[in-house]
Amino acid sequence: MREKERDAAKPALMLGNTQFAQKNGLDVTKLRDWSFVHRVVGKDVIIAGHDHPSKAPTDNARRPNWDRVGTAKAAVDFARQFMGVRFLYPDLPGYTPVSGAAKIDLLALPAIEFLPMATMTVPESLNVTTTPLLRVNTAHPAGASFYDLAHNRFPRVDEQFGGHTWERAVPAELFAEHPEYFALISGSRLKPEGGRAQYCLSNADVQERIYRDLAGFFDKGYDSVDLGQPDGFRECQCEKCDALHGTGKGWSEKIWIFHRDVARRLEKSHPGRQVTMMSYILTAAPPKSFKPPRQRRPHPERRLDQRNPRRCESQPLACASRDSLHLFRHRATQQRHHLESQLRSQPRSAPRSHRLRDLVVLAHQHEHE
Ligand SMILES: [Zn+2]
Repeated sequence: MREKERDAAKPALMLGNTQFAQKNGLDVTKLRDWSFVHRVVGKDVIIAGHDHPSKAPTDNARRPNWDRVGTAKAAVDFARQFMGVRFLYPDLPGYTPVSGAAKIDLLALPAIEFLPMATMTVPESLNVTTTPLLRVNTAHPAGASFYDLAHNRFPRVDEQFGGHTWERAVPAELFAEHPEYFALISGSRLKPEGGRAQYCLSNADVQERIYRDLAGFFDKGYDSVDLGQPDGFRECQCEKCDALHGTGKGWSEKIWIFHRDVARRLEKSHPGRQVTMMSYILTAAPPKSFKPPRQRRPHPERRLDQRNPRRCESQPLACASRDSLHLFRHRATQQRHHLESQLRSQPRSAPRSHRLRDLVVLAHQHEHE
């Protein structure tokens, strides 16, 4: 039902970026990735995520970029938490977006179970923003059914995944004009076969092309890109490649260092974006020469104020204690407050009160551990 058609006398579940949500100060565009909001306002419930198409174009139908259906995520979590709905296995085949559910009778589908519930109870104080820890968690074939979203199996939206990116950056066809881009093996440049190529990594044009390939994806709007060496890797035997990064014949380390430098350059040209790398065959072992980044001391105001925990509670996002025990206690306090508010909103006769009370006691113990 559309927002303007609702019967104002009846309570409503307000899905998505409604005028009602906006009037109540919710800006869904501020919700990162798959974050979502559950908020009770009067007799109504706002259930909303950030819905938007991918910023990046889909150029491979087998690896599509999905729309961000943040409100579908918000809705399945609400259904599970408050409506006794369980998502047992994928309700749609792979490659099918959540909109494909429109053709299915979800109530009759065995993939979705509805636990018997006489009434549905939502706490009056409900006002929670949830940010799933995962941004991407996809399989092949990718799916975005309600089952996937309920289990945080998130398809790619603005993330590029490719694996072997050098071949895309330096296509095999360039061999005719630039044999020097390709690996020197037993005294001659290796001619690519079937689109599979090996490279002379010390060649400046090759390095530049690998960087530009990824920069191009960021320019198209992707938030993260993948970087990786070719399958069936063969080492270039030229002298310059030997000398590259001072690793001699140690190609695992050579590739790690090269990839790190590409990532650093991208960090400068496209701040805030991310480069992902597969730990794969030659780079299965972690790099030996990398030093951990210098630990930045948290800003004094961002540390947990132990003497004045109320201050910290009022700024939970700014609280970044290095001491995990303090953070644990702090979370226990937050958890207790949340549980207590749930308890307050439950009628005394509610069957789960005991369980909630036990949890409050547990959280209390954790606070003082
Ligand atoms: Zn070389």
